[in-house]
Order: sequence, then C-alpha cells, then structure tokens
Amino acid sequence: MSAAGTLPSVLVIEDEPQIRRLLRLTLESNGFRVHPAANGKEGLDRARTERPEAVILDLGLPDADGVDILKEIRRGSAVPVIILSVRNGEQDVISCLNAGADDYLIKPFRQGELVARIRAAIRHRRGPEEKGVITAGPVTVDLDARVVKRGGEIVKLTGTEYALLELLVRNAGRVLTHRYILEQVWGPSYAEESQYSRVYVGQLRKKLEEDPSNPALIVTESGIGYRFAG
Ligand code: CA
Repeated sequence: MSAAGTLPSVLVIEDEPQIRRLLRLTLESNGFRVHPAANGKEGLDRARTERPEAVILDLGLPDADGVDILKEIRRGSAVPVIILSVRNGEQDVISCLNAGADDYLIKPFRQGELVARIRAAIRHRRGPEEKGVITAGPVTVDLDARVVKRGGEIVKLTGTEYALLELLVRNAGRVLTHRYILEQVWGPSYAEESQYSRVYVGQLRKKLEEDPSNPALIVTESGIGYRFAG
C-alpha cells in the first residue's frame, strides 16, 4: 500500500541524541519516515512544514514545556500526539492528555509497544463527528441507534453507563484521564470525583467484559485513567 515517498511520517521531538536515534531506527525499520527535531522550537517548525501523520513528544525538553508545545501543535492540527515521559502518572503527562495528547509512553519503552501505539494513534485519528457501528471483540456499539450488543444480544445500559461507554468508544485507542472523563460525562464540577468513573467503569465491565476482573475492552491506565481498546 505504501509506495516509497508515501510512507507515513512521524515527527520525533526529543533532545537526547541516543533516544532520538533509537526512535528513528525503530520507526524506519517499521515502515515510517522520520522527521527528527532536537528541541521544542525545531519541533514546532517541522510540525508546520512537514505535516506528519503522528508526533512523538518528549516532555523533558531543554527549551520548552511539553504542555506548551502540545497546545501550540493543537492550535493548527489534530495530528495524533504521543507523549514520552520518564515517570508514570506524572502531572505533566496528565496535563498533556487533558490538553489533547492521544497517548503516552514511559521511558524506557519497548520498541514493539512504541510501534503499536503509533499505529493505533494513526488508525484512530479522530474525525469531527464519528458515527456508525464500532466493533470491539464480542461487543458492538451502534452510535446512531444508541444500541449496545454483546455476542449479538442487546445489553441494557443506564443513561450514564451509555454516555461513559460512548465517550470511551468515540476515543478508542486514546488514553482518557479521570478528569476528562468526569468533566465530559458528569460535568466540570465533578472533575475530582474519580469514584464515579470507577464505579461506572466497573458496571460497564460487568455487562460487557468476558472476564470483568481481567478487562480486555476498558483498560485501566494506572494513575492516569482509562482506554477503550477497540
Ligand atoms: Ca529529554
């Protein structure tokens, strides 16, 4: 499908030469073109000029705050952005996800994981108002008819359960933070009430998952939020 010259391109914004080189080798050997950038300013320039299919953004840059770089990219583009960080659950990672990053990876990351995340981010690149039927394992969600089925049988959901599921499904593959989920489903005044999302995710898992204690559809991102693995 991808002839030379039409390979999907990834902008890599990372100041450490060794990691930049590792990212480049990994991506190129998996069929991506790579635009490297060694700092935030160069990254923003290349985001504008190269129009990449995805961006990998290291949060520890010498010249800029990762959240600001992300916001700047978002002003002109809905390109998928994957954050690189050294610590799980770091406030910067959460801020970036809240500001529109699609996913995150913690250093050191496995190369296969990196490639899988980028492919998923590009595949799930968001359209403005995605409608239709989403299938994930035994579950189908008809977003037009608002009907959820598991193994062909209709699953009865409460209004709140459906609203939560719809949010997750429409953002399949993306990590959604607790705060984002609470604000979208329950409203801004519930942004800190993470017991709501926990309880309702538990209910959805009971109704939808093969093994609710070992979920495959609504996956927990420890210390961050949830991801619908569609
Ligand atoms: Ca760095």
